[in-house]
Amino acid sequence: MCANRLTTGAAPRFPTRIAHCDLDTFFVAVERLRDPQLVGKPVLVGGRGPRSVVASASYEARAFGCHSAQPMAQALRACPEATVVPPDFTRYRAASEAFHALLRDASPAVESVGLDEAFADLTGLGADGMGARATAEAIRARVRAELGLAVSIGIAGGRTTAKVTSDRAKPDGLLDVPAGGDAAFLAPLPLRELPLAGPRLVERLALAGVRTIGQVAVLDAGWLVRQFGAAGHALSERARGIDATPVRGVPRAPVSVSREVTFGEDVRDPVLLDRVLEGHAERIGADLRRAGRRARTVMLKVRWLDFTTVTRSHTLARPAQSTAQLAAVGRALRAELVAREGERPVRLIGLAATNLVDEALQLRLEERATPRDERLDRALDAIRERYGGAAVRRGARSRGRG
Ligand SMILES: [Mg+2]
Repeated sequence: MCANRLTTGAAPRFPTRIAHCDLDTFFVAVERLRDPQLVGKPVLVGGRGPRSVVASASYEARAFGCHSAQPMAQALRACPEATVVPPDFTRYRAASEAFHALLRDASPAVESVGLDEAFADLTGLGADGMGARATAEAIRARVRAELGLAVSIGIAGGRTTAKVTSDRAKPDGLLDVPAGGDAAFLAPLPLRELPLAGPRLVERLALAGVRTIGQVAVLDAGWLVRQFGAAGHALSERARGIDATPVRGVPRAPVSVSREVTFGEDVRDPVLLDRVLEGHAERIGADLRRAGRRARTVMLKVRWLDFTTVTRSHTLARPAQSTAQLAAVGRALRAELVAREGERPVRLIGLAATNLVDEALQLRLEERATPRDERLDRALDAIRERYGGAAVRRGARSRGRG
């Protein structure tokens, strides 16, 4: 009944590969895109008021002992030459959306855990199911090339180890714990590197001579539970590299959307054919907008009376999701085809939007203006959702009659 990718019978078992992807000094990095003068200098993002705290500190400022959540006044005493930049959350949100969209392009399940960090399930990727590292490398390259940001990635068999690993990969690095190696990787690390271990717990265990994650792993789990309750149970498991918490992602976005119709009798009326294309564009556009996707390429498919099928495609400079734009490309492709082959009787005509990209990637940093076409589409989508598909027809659809 519920046909998702997890219940498709005898799927091969690949080792679980979870990536924790964390942008390096995110706010500072975005500010440096805006003002390259800030590169290489100590930078503190935050307010200058008496109660302000540091939201993000560059590595140059950290060298002076500055860190996030520190009172700004204290940070400036430690590093008086630091440049203080007020936070610009509109810009950070745009960059964050683009970052998450890019992760969703690479992984079937992405769970955001903050503006600048997310878990991505990389299990079973690649031809042999062992492509997690290659996928992570590709993510890092795209984040660098398309967003101008550095992302550190840790890959492990569970979320907790992946998080520890990405911290260790910083700055701008990739660390991959071999499958089955989580416990061995964690063992020598100081206990405070485990996300579950708060300062009080670390202190109490240090009094008992327990300082590394590996020392916790060999402690009696019952003793840990008596000492720390439920947290003790989780601590024991995580220290042994056991963490089956899944990445709660949304289903993978579609890679193409298409519509086609086969006629009961052969059609050669150009006005009717264009109108059918416009109907396809209307539905495809609505699907794209609902999924938050845009099409780089629009493809026309035509089957002639003799059953030969031809396709024609056009790649757009700026990926589209507007009905009007999809329809215009569809009509232009048909005109091109007719110019080549003449107006022949058609059995089937289809339109497809392919080479889809996530909408947020298009709305990067400055590009936030919405063209008029798209505002109209959104209004019509809203009405259609409330009153059903037949409630609205755009005026342009009857243009062919006049
Ligand atoms: Mg970060």
